[in-house]
Amino acid sequence: MSGNISNFQLDSALEEARSRFLKRNPKSADAHEKATRSMPGGNTRTSLFYAPFPLAIARGDGPYVWDADGHKYLDLLGEFTAGLYGHSHPVIREALNRALDNGLNFGGHGLIEAEFAEVLCRRFKSIDLIRFTNSGTEANLMAISTALAINKRRKVLVFNGGYHGGVFTFHSGHNRINAPFDFILGRYNDVAGTRQLIEDNALALGVVILEPMQGGAGCIPASADFLSMLREVTAQHGITMIFDEVMTSRLGVGGLQGEVGITPDMTTLGKYVGGGMSFGAFGGTEKIMRHLDPRQPDALPHAGTFNNNVLTMSAGLAAMTQIYTPAAVAELNLRGERLRGRLNALFAERNLAISFTGRGSMMNIHPTTASVENVEDTKRGRPEIRDLFFFEMLEKGFYCARRGMINLSLVITDEHADQFVAAIDEFATVHKGLLSAPA
Ligand SMILES: *Cc1c(COP(=O)(O)O)cnc(C)c1O
Repeated sequence: MSGNISNFQLDSALEEARSRFLKRNPKSADAHEKATRSMPGGNTRTSLFYAPFPLAIARGDGPYVWDADGHKYLDLLGEFTAGLYGHSHPVIREALNRALDNGLNFGGHGLIEAEFAEVLCRRFKSIDLIRFTNSGTEANLMAISTALAINKRRKVLVFNGGYHGGVFTFHSGHNRINAPFDFILGRYNDVAGTRQLIEDNALALGVVILEPMQGGAGCIPASADFLSMLREVTAQHGITMIFDEVMTSRLGVGGLQGEVGITPDMTTLGKYVGGGMSFGAFGGTEKIMRHLDPRQPDALPHAGTFNNNVLTMSAGLAAMTQIYTPAAVAELNLRGERLRGRLNALFAERNLAISFTGRGSMMNIHPTTASVENVEDTKRGRPEIRDLFFFEMLEKGFYCARRGMINLSLVITDEHADQFVAAIDEFATVHKGLLSAPA
């Protein structure tokens, strides 16, 4: 009975929040309507869409963004981790201006790419040699294809909830648009089941690819046992283990792999590493990566017009050497741990059935306090609570992902964190009845 009452209250609270959103954002509504004439659903990036229409963001500056109707938001989405530096960081601006002064699109090797490559090879233990791409999706495509070409096997083990790009989407199992690899789907954090799955497929299995903390699925860290089992079994059977650290590499100086002490055979990078420009990279052991050396007679080809584009190379080099220094990595992730701790303490004190999972500067809200070990666990509780959170946080001036993801950027201060905690406190107070844990 009380469940029905609170379901009813939740539905009406959400309906009210949506109708206030509609009223507040006529220019975004217009922009969306216009966009639908030339793009399916008015959209060119599915993850950004939500009903009734997504906000059109007109500009950003430092930690803030403004929508088409002039509302100002603290940007807590941080472009799904790619926006690590805030908007228009002066160091990146300067690097881009310098690059523009010297012209673009050379059709030749440049002078910056090797410098940038060296920085990344030094930083990530699993990367002896590296190649650049234009996106994280492409990095994963190249990493998987390279590994399978070398070990001459055909199957690829991925995990439920995993996200490795537009054609590597496993949020709800397999997806019709995925690249046509022979995928096997494992259960994230299931140590015994996954070990069995690998052993059953050992001869045909060429690649195991995973995020050491699933980002898109809701910031779900892999357990130490799960990762060490994977490292052990893949090594034993000659299977290439790939860490997709497109997001998680920001969680430690040497990536999340450095923090958890597991070294994969290959690693893919993306998002923030290119200083906010289009970016991807894949790297690994010398033994694997030398197959791409064009001086070898049977080298694997890896082309890409924009692989060494000077804007990305310049912005990335400046970002990784001058901005995201070891001290900055430590400070940002500590700030994230503190914020997540405060929010979870606030929920626990009030006995609310919501919690934030994550690690360091990345976190995600879930309408449950039960432990979240894989994407199935995120489906507990009522998903409308995420929507209510999203719309009401927008109204309070905080821009998060629709699915409740938050990624701190380097320009988010303690004062911003205090403001966000206060806004969540208010949300929790107003909706206490909806959010209370069952007795
Ligand atoms: C964003 C993301 C990708 C895809 O990168 P794009 O640059 O968007 O193609 C791959 N893997 C993970 C873990 C990601 O978060």
